[in-house]
Amino acid sequence: MTFKELNLKEEILSAIGELGFEFPMPVQEKVIPFMLENNTDLVALAQTGTGKTAAFGLPILNMIDPYQKQVQALVLAPTRELCIQISNDLKNFSKFLKTRIVPVYGGEDIRTQLKQLDTTPQIIVATPGRLIDLIERGKIKLESIRFLVLDEADEMLNMGFKEDIETILATTPDTRRTTLFSATMPAEIARIAKKYMKEYTEITVGTKNSGSDNVSHIFYVSQAKQRYLVLKRIVDLNPDIYGIVFCRTRQETKEVADHLMRDGYNADALHGDLSQAQRDTVMQKFRIRNLQLLVATDVAARGLDVSDLTHVINYNLPDDVESYTHRSGRTGRANKKGVSVSVIHSKEKFKIKDIERILGKKIEHQQKPNCQ
Ligand code: AMP
Repeated sequence: MTFKELNLKEEILSAIGELGFEFPMPVQEKVIPFMLENNTDLVALAQTGTGKTAAFGLPILNMIDPYQKQVQALVLAPTRELCIQISNDLKNFSKFLKTRIVPVYGGEDIRTQLKQLDTTPQIIVATPGRLIDLIERGKIKLESIRFLVLDEADEMLNMGFKEDIETILATTPDTRRTTLFSATMPAEIARIAKKYMKEYTEITVGTKNSGSDNVSHIFYVSQAKQRYLVLKRIVDLNPDIYGIVFCRTRQETKEVADHLMRDGYNADALHGDLSQAQRDTVMQKFRIRNLQLLVATDVAARGLDVSDLTHVINYNLPDDVESYTHRSGRTGRANKKGVSVSVIHSKEKFKIKDIERILGKKIEHQQKPNCQ
């Protein structure tokens, strides 16, 4: 299938052509025709990095009236980084259209955003808390919304946005079309879908909860005191590595990052003890690949929207399988190959079995690289 066959406007085809999109990704093949041809709600189960933004963004941009000066579409996302990312993607897709897109998110001076909203945009991309603030100030009106997208709905719930989301859903018109994206389908999402969405279609891309097929999963068994050496060897064996090293605690994150830096590797740490400005700096350096290795906790890495990682390294296995799939979903994106490596203690082999069962994939046991 080609993008042309999807009946998108010429302006959109030109813009995505410039971005180098040749063929629609699976989620796009399913979601774009659905949104263009049906008038019903949609729940799409898809991992991050599968091309979701274009999947909902292109049909919405196709249907928005750029000459009607009202907010016609609202996209809700869990973090400011994702918000900015989605907004930038939509701006790129609509380069040849006259659609105005404004991102609003917490953690930034509200005055800048208030100013941007002086001219009504057709699309708002928002984190839930800041959006409610702006609605309460009377700066954003959602009465004319035609499309509502909940992106990474499971993450939004994980981050405690449940009530905010329900408030927002209750303030938008019933005539809106709702599209919900989630990597997983916890009971709470099913409840929200049932309560706030009209009869909806469910689309699953890939196996539920499973990682992308482009990711190979491997593990090494190591004694705790050799763990760092194994990590070093993994990095040495992959000089072009661009990856995240996931640790369990802030303390461990700091220690591993310090150790790597002392040993001359291009690494830095991302954890909750850093100020927002420090986190932004580290994330930006990593995004532009000035950093090869980011050592992070799950929570700190949540806000980071980076695709194209060559490796995800589980310096410690996470406590739950969902975090494992989230972590490894950060590699193998956009049809590139990726590796998810875990360094485990022999006592943790049962955890690998659990992950394999839910992932529906084998995690290959490899001989520990020589650490002498
Ligand atoms: P997303 O899941 O929306 O974050 O997309 C993941 C990555 O895939 C982004 O870097 C997109 O720019 C890229 N992408 C999305 N759709 C396509 C496509 N059809 N062809 C090539 N790259 C794409």
